[in-house]
Amino acid sequence: MKVGEGFIPGIKYCTRCCMPETQEGISFDALGICKACQSSEQKMHINWKEREGLLAEILADAKLRAGNGYDCILPISGGKDSFFQAHVLTQVYGMKPLAVTFSHNWFSETGYYNLQRCLEVFHMDHIMFTPNRKLVNNLAKKSVEMIGDTCWHCHAGVGAFPLQIACKFNIPLLIYGESIAESSGRASYFDPVTKYDREYFTKVSAKVSPDDMVCEYLSKRDLYPFEIPSAEECESKNIQGIHLGDYIFWDEERQTEFVKREYGWRETEMEGAYKGYKSVECIMAGMHDFTCYLKRGFGRASMQAATDIRQGLLTREEAWQLVEEFDCVRPEALDYFLEITGMSEQEFHEIMKKKRHEKIKDYELVVKKKHHKNTERIKPFAEYMIEKNINQPDPRERNE
Ligand SMILES: [Zn+2]
Repeated sequence: MKVGEGFIPGIKYCTRCCMPETQEGISFDALGICKACQSSEQKMHINWKEREGLLAEILADAKLRAGNGYDCILPISGGKDSFFQAHVLTQVYGMKPLAVTFSHNWFSETGYYNLQRCLEVFHMDHIMFTPNRKLVNNLAKKSVEMIGDTCWHCHAGVGAFPLQIACKFNIPLLIYGESIAESSGRASYFDPVTKYDREYFTKVSAKVSPDDMVCEYLSKRDLYPFEIPSAEECESKNIQGIHLGDYIFWDEERQTEFVKREYGWRETEMEGAYKGYKSVECIMAGMHDFTCYLKRGFGRASMQAATDIRQGLLTREEAWQLVEEFDCVRPEALDYFLEITGMSEQEFHEIMKKKRHEKIKDYELVVKKKHHKNTERIKPFAEYMIEKNINQPDPRERNE
């Protein structure tokens, strides 16, 4: 593959990491190098000791203000970053966080294990919000129609719920993981730490507001849990959010090894990805990434390969091979999606075609069949557990 080119003709690809110009928010310098690649270079020139000093100050200040309450909110999914964040906060800085989870209600079995394990090993109090099954199914359908991916309820809920809890419990500091500069291309490590944006998740992932989702099968009332607190409320309570990745040198690969070894965090097979550690908690991650492929011509393997090239773990040639093998595979999760939405596969592809990026509008994207059954069952763990138990005799009857 020629430098700057890729699988889709006429599309510009980063001369270093191979990410295409169809990625949202991406921009290139004069040499054709994308912003995320530039960020990965900046990381080498930052005085991380000084930055950690700043973090220590922020955390000490939060502790001082917290009195007998919680020092901060830790939004967690149970993923590898949750473990690493919990480790830094509780073990390194002696903080007392309140763990907060917005459940997409699509927990995988491994993901549910990880979440429970995280709470157990770090001794954290926890609040979780779970939207009901019917609502999740309806939102998944509307989500594809509105934003061309399956996960609006998760994008919106992850943005809103920790903020709601921050306001209700008067815990003004929220602590996120990876820096926005790391791979999104939306920020730089050298930019001054910007003011916390309560609407970040709405703008970047959810795209549309709860009001926009109201339709014949979703009422305003259904959407209530996805409302973010008002700017006035956040301001009056001085709600702040920081990303640990802006203060600590972020190394995904090493952190994953660390939390596996030290705390028993587990990977699983992830559809459309060649690594088993991204979005492990969710059975629908493969759908999220497949819709990205259908819209923008790249999927999870491209994102992972780009990170690996930046870290010096892969050559460009190796990356292209992985991208070709994984990005275009039809995920098993598509079957589950069609089941819960009542959509036909053809209807789904028709909608996705309309959502396609202008630059690849006329390009015929290859979709390959998946040739093996996913290691983990593609069904929400909650449903799966009920199904397993409902067929067992009642334990009281067994003893009679
Ligand atoms: Zn790049």
